[in-house]
Amino acid sequence: MLKYLLHYPQPIIEQAQHLITEDRLGAWLLNKYPEQHDVRNNKALYDYTMALKNQYLRKSAPLNKVLFDGKISQMHQALGLNISRTMVHGGKLKARKEIRIGALFQHAPEAFLKMIVVHELAHLKEADHNKSFYQLCCHMEPNYHHLELDTRLYMTQLEVFGDIYSR
Ligand SMILES: [Zn+2]
Repeated sequence: MLKYLLHYPQPIIEQAQHLITEDRLGAWLLNKYPEQHDVRNNKALYDYTMALKNQYLRKSAPLNKVLFDGKISQMHQALGLNISRTMVHGGKLKARKEIRIGALFQHAPEAFLKMIVVHELAHLKEADHNKSFYQLCCHMEPNYHHLELDTRLYMTQLEVFGDIYSR
């Protein structure tokens, strides 16, 4: 039930378990993050992502596409997806980069959207979840680790009780 939290210290897992047992996780999240973002479509998501990229990762590979993808299942790919494709274009090999964000982030607080966009942008430079990957995430969003935990709590909420933001 708490598979999104497996790598966290025991006290955090116990706190989450406690909120779930008392059926208070949704209320806890809504109290902490009452507002949904208004990045509702792929165009707005592209602009949102490019604004962050231009601020922090101007020199990394250009991004061809950013979109919400309903086929990214919460269960398996959990967060987002980074796709690199090499395409033949005009006789030359051209790298195309796209970022797909799970549809669960379409109706969510801005903090969670920012966390996942920062995460996927950092993958443009670092393929693995290593130390420099997380340093880059924290450079773009100093509160990154906190937001990743809360996003995982939100995913737990979705799985155990259902959505609290989709309206
Ligand atoms: Zn990742």
